[in-house]
Amino acid sequence: MDNCVFCKITSKQSPAEILMESDSVVVFKDIYPSAPVHYLVVSKKHIPSIKEVLHEDEVLMGHLIHMARDAAEKLGLNGYKLVFNVGKEGGQIVDHIHLHLLGGWAKNKANTVNV
Ligand code: 5GP
Ligand code: ZN
Repeated sequence: MDNCVFCKITSKQSPAEILMESDSVVVFKDIYPSAPVHYLVVSKKHIPSIKEVLHEDEVLMGHLIHMARDAAEKLGLNGYKLVFNVGKEGGQIVDHIHLHLLGGWAKNKANTVNV
């Protein structure tokens, strides 16, 4: 989609620190990290938010979670948070669906984080 920052990154028109990629998903570093380790797991398909996910997107959504899990393993994270912000009131700023992968805090420490 024109003028969508995440469409530009997933189509390689804009740069990002890419960790992993599949046919339908790109995992890259968040530019303003909210945790010691903060990556974004982003579908190549432009879906504005969880609200607009269709029945036909269910396989893609499952794949998004698998990619997040694989990225966490690659990063050596034992525990982490996966967060979808949904809508403005839910803290969503970029209107292209993405899963936040957050971690890297001290071991055995419970954490709260706002993304
Ligand atoms: P949201 O608040 O929409 O759930 O999260 C959007 C996230 O995207 C934020 O954590 C923000 O730091 C990150 N972000 C925004 N623009 C860019 C960008 O151009 N490149 C990267 N790598 N991250 C971005
Ligand atoms: Zn987009």
